[in-house]
Amino acid sequence: MEQADKMANLEKEQTFLMMKPDGVVRGLTGEVIKRIERCGLKIVALKMFWATRDQIDEHYPKSEAWLNRIGEKTKVNYDKYGLDIKTLGTENNKEIGLMVRGWLLDYLTSAPMVKMVIEGPHAVDLVRKMAGNTIPAQAEMGTIRGDFSVDSAAFANRDKRAIFNIIHASETPEEASHEIDFWFGPEDIHEYEKVEENTYKFVKRG
Ligand code: ADP
Ligand code: MG
Repeated sequence: MEQADKMANLEKEQTFLMMKPDGVVRGLTGEVIKRIERCGLKIVALKMFWATRDQIDEHYPKSEAWLNRIGEKTKVNYDKYGLDIKTLGTENNKEIGLMVRGWLLDYLTSAPMVKMVIEGPHAVDLVRKMAGNTIPAQAEMGTIRGDFSVDSAAFANRDKRAIFNIIHASETPEEASHEIDFWFGPEDIHEYEKVEENTYKFVKRG
C-alpha cells in the first residue's frame, strides 16, 4: 500500500468500545462519551442492548495465546501482592484464562451495555490510552478505569468473577475490525463531518 493510502486509512481508523454493565448501572455512559468527544474522536455508531452468553462467547478470542495471556497477567497481579495463585485452584495459564472467560460471560450479560464505533486518527491507541490498564488498581489517574474503578484480579478471583473495569476497548486494529463486524452492520455506521474537521482543513490551507 502507498504511504498516502496508509495515512488516509490511519486518519479514519475505527475502534470498538463497549460500556460494560458496571459502567451502565453506575451511570457513567455520558462521562465516557464526553471524554471521547472532548479529545476530538468521532462516534459513528451507538446502541444500548442486552447481550446473550453466545454473543459474548463470540466477542472474546478463543485462541490459546489470549487465554495464556490472561493467565500470565493474573499471576503477575497475585505475585505483586504476595498472594498465592494456587488458591485459584490451578496454576496453569490456559486454565486460568478459561475460568476468567467463563466469568466474563456472567459479567457482560448481567445488565445492558452500550456499544459504539469510534473513528479518527489513531483511534485504537487513543481509546486504549483513555481506558487505562485492565486492572483498575494499576490504571493511571485520568484514565476511565483509573478514575472510576477500584477492582483487582485478586479480589475478583476470590469472588469468582471478572474484574469490573467499566469499559471494553479493542486492543489492535485487527481486534477492532473483528468486533465492529460482529456487533454492527454496515447500515449502523454513519459517515459525517464534525465541525472541527473543517478547522483542520482551514489550518492546512492557511
Ligand atoms: P482488556 O479489557 O484491558 O483488553 P483483557 O483483554 O486482558 O483486558 O481481558 C478482558 C477482560 O477480562 C478484562 O477487561 C477484565 O474484565 C477481565 N479479566 C482479565 N483478567 C482477569 C482476571 N485475572 N480475573 C478476572 N477478570 C479478568
Ligand atoms: Mg482485551
